[in-house]
Amino acid sequence: MDEKIYIFGHKAPDTDSICSSLVMEKFEQNLGLNVEAKRLGKVNKETEYVLNYLGIEAPALLEKVEEGQKVILVDHNEFDQSVEGIENANIETVIDHHRIANFQTKTPLYYRAEPVGCTSTILYKKFKEEGMQIEKKEATLMLSAIVSDTLLLKSPTTTEDDKKALTELAKIAEIDLNEYGIEMLKAGTNLDDFSEEELINLDAKRSEKNGKKFVIAQVNTVSIPDVLKRKEKIETAMRKDIEANDIKVFIFAITDILNSNTQIIVLGEETAVAEKGFAKNLEDNMMFLEGVVSRKKQILPVIDQNL
Ligand code: MN
Ligand code: MN
Repeated sequence: MDEKIYIFGHKAPDTDSICSSLVMEKFEQNLGLNVEAKRLGKVNKETEYVLNYLGIEAPALLEKVEEGQKVILVDHNEFDQSVEGIENANIETVIDHHRIANFQTKTPLYYRAEPVGCTSTILYKKFKEEGMQIEKKEATLMLSAIVSDTLLLKSPTTTEDDKKALTELAKIAEIDLNEYGIEMLKAGTNLDDFSEEELINLDAKRSEKNGKKFVIAQVNTVSIPDVLKRKEKIETAMRKDIEANDIKVFIFAITDILNSNTQIIVLGEETAVAEKGFAKNLEDNMMFLEGVVSRKKQILPVIDQNL
């Protein structure tokens, strides 16, 4: 048999990264490929809820890849967010719904990017295009990823394609979307077990612009004040990270998934980018962003344009 191809999402994996890796594994296996889903970090509590619901294991942890290792990337493309050694891996395929940045390959590849709300929405289409039947397990995985990335279709990243996919997947999975979706999202909001260091890395996206490194980390909650009880310690952890990694601006976004608002804590030399970008002053290192829930669409572009 051919050498094995690894499939994985980004570091600090979210539900889309884990679920889409597993679904892509199934898709490629259906086509006869020798593939294995992997993960680049600890599974979060929301994803754990999904895996427990299905009674399945998470993919195995992948620490780094050797030169020439064949890989398939889902839910990311930026090397900063990928596995150690990615520069010298052989990237065969990318399925993603993010901007393309800090990315290059040595050889031709299959690259599919669509501006939809979730990687699993693209995978759903791939199953359809191939005329492949979607089993209940894969339907549940894809549905969970879409609920997670679009916050039950409430995020501005949501497209008609996501809605259509989610509706059909719920039928196949025989799942009541509102009941299951809220329970799943809530499972991801219990932050009590995490240290402040872990909190700021749970879902952190690291990137750079003009040689300036920045971080946008995000946590979901049902109560922003609850998270802010730990503000001082969170700021200490952020400052440590800024110092250790030469970060110019670190944004910690606390998103209220029930009311669709976000409170951000901003630290670093370049906090002015947030003030300029959102046309609002920081007070006590914080800013309240009404109606903001999407890092990708509502926070990242603002920082990227102003840094
Ligand atoms: Mn993701
Ligand atoms: Mn995603």
